[in-house]
Amino acid sequence: MRLKKIKLAGFKSFVDVTNVPFPQEMTAIVGPNGCGKSNIIDAVRWVLGESSAKNLRGDSMTDVIFNGSTARKPTGQASVELVFDNQQQRIRGSMADRTEISIRRVVNRDSQNTYYLNGSKCRRKDITDIFLGTGLGPRSYAIIEQGMISRLIESKPQDLRIFIEEAAGVSKYKERRRETENR
Ligand code: ATP
Ligand code: MG
Repeated sequence: MRLKKIKLAGFKSFVDVTNVPFPQEMTAIVGPNGCGKSNIIDAVRWVLGESSAKNLRGDSMTDVIFNGSTARKPTGQASVELVFDNQQQRIRGSMADRTEISIRRVVNRDSQNTYYLNGSKCRRKDITDIFLGTGLGPRSYAIIEQGMISRLIESKPQDLRIFIEEAAGVSKYKERRRETENR
């Protein structure tokens, strides 16, 4: 499943609507320090349901909203949309027949989060469910950030197991069992 496009608006340093296309198999984002490269990765993780401000390099969850500059006022909300190519039908469930999957998350200054799946409002869980077992998620091995390899090498066996279970496709069944047990 290929990420085709990221659309950001009011997210961190991306105050205006910004489309980041991923036209080929490999895309490199380059630029000077502080230009927003890592913010793009934060955006991906955020839409996929990241709920820890620390993992997004902030103190609070509303820190992802553009907080103003000398020239611009802060914005009232942050929005990020990811568009995936699903022509190979890697996604199962109700969205399986869609050739394109769009997921979007919006947060406002009251910390209200809204999620959308192909334009329709949905729950955070609907989004995390789609990607469970695909290797993509807010903390999955699909996103390898600075320092992650050394963290992995030095991690405790319990933490290492989480990565292995996601890679092996076991995590989605564990999640379903947890849900059933909590009912
Ligand atoms: P480096 O090459 O140093 O890793 P980078 O391109 O990864 O740099 P980022 O960390 O993505 O840079 O961007 C940091 C910039 O984003 C900083 O200038 C910071 O002020 C800005 N920024 C972060 N959060 C917000 C926000 N909520 N509102 C406005 N700007 C923000
Ligand atoms: Mg960076």
